[in-house]
Amino acid sequence: MSRFWSDIVHRLTPYVPGEQPALAHPIKLNTNENPYSPSPRVVDAIRRELCDDGASLRKYPDPTARALREVVAAHHGLRIEQVFAGNGSDEVLAHAFQALMKRADPICFPDITYSFYPVYAQLYGVEYRTIPLDADFAIDVHAYRAPNGGILMPNPNAPTGRALPLSDIEALLKANPDVPVIIDEAYVDFGAESAVKLIDAYSNLLVVQTTSKARSLAGMRVGFAFGDAALIEALRRVKDSFNSYPLDRLAQVAAIASYEDRAWFEESCAKVIASRNRLTAQLEALGFDVVPSAANFVFAKHAARDAATLAAALRKREIFVRHFGLPRIDQHLRISIGTDSECDALVGALKEIAGD
Ligand SMILES: *Cc1c(COP(=O)(O)O)cnc(C)c1O
Repeated sequence: MSRFWSDIVHRLTPYVPGEQPALAHPIKLNTNENPYSPSPRVVDAIRRELCDDGASLRKYPDPTARALREVVAAHHGLRIEQVFAGNGSDEVLAHAFQALMKRADPICFPDITYSFYPVYAQLYGVEYRTIPLDADFAIDVHAYRAPNGGILMPNPNAPTGRALPLSDIEALLKANPDVPVIIDEAYVDFGAESAVKLIDAYSNLLVVQTTSKARSLAGMRVGFAFGDAALIEALRRVKDSFNSYPLDRLAQVAAIASYEDRAWFEESCAKVIASRNRLTAQLEALGFDVVPSAANFVFAKHAARDAATLAAALRKREIFVRHFGLPRIDQHLRISIGTDSECDALVGALKEIAGD
């Protein structure tokens, strides 16, 4: 605390990112990173950008990330005016709060969801109301009806991993035609259906995606929003009033190369999905109740063991999982899908810790 702080800084409760342990070989199943490297083409593209002793780094990057937006637009069958690129989807979401969600009525999001949403709401002075998930952690879209100032939810949801069918997203859009509806698709490639195909039909729909999870590029910070050109223009106006160059040169060429290697992307998603199904069965055999997941993590609760105690015992063995000390979910662990050998190490440790 300091007398130099603004009122808003006094009141903020910042988001707490998952731990990045300073260990040589931790088993890191706590921040939903991809266990596989990005496409080799990504590394080649970065090397090419660094040729001539990095001469290109002298110059600012393209502030509009046009070449990247063209590639991503083509990938999704969109026009370039329907694509916004930002420094990770966290930044894209922050701009969306600022640009679209500050309205007369409070916005709505689930009571159990990405814990960054209430932080942005607080930062930008956006009022919100949370809508409870049902007893099985499913979102009931019929609970989201006007009047509200906007709707925001991940699909699949985090940290539950549950996905909504596209028909539910469409019902949500139909019931709320006069407010922005933001679908955060950070995990969509691991088993949910994207709402991108609804963009031409619903001018209030904004779909947010990232290269951090399914494309193994969390370290490059590249995220997107897709939607009606007027929504994208709102984001651009905020971006150009904040930071004109959110994507550096290496991030732009890396992300382009990632979209150019569809086979690599599809194969690494398929490997994660297969490991998720394998880990789910192993956890169930150990006495865990596992929420059906369409993401690259599972959300699991042991029948008899305290979740915080389990997480602490795993941590001692340098195995990191995420525990949220929050209402309704303080007995769950969120476990990112690693390689099969990382998952086996987790299961082996849990057998020792929780076995009878
Ligand atoms: C990981 C995650 C993000 C943020 O991704 P970045 O692009 O790395 O900023 C956004 N939303 C949800 C639900 C996430 O889990």
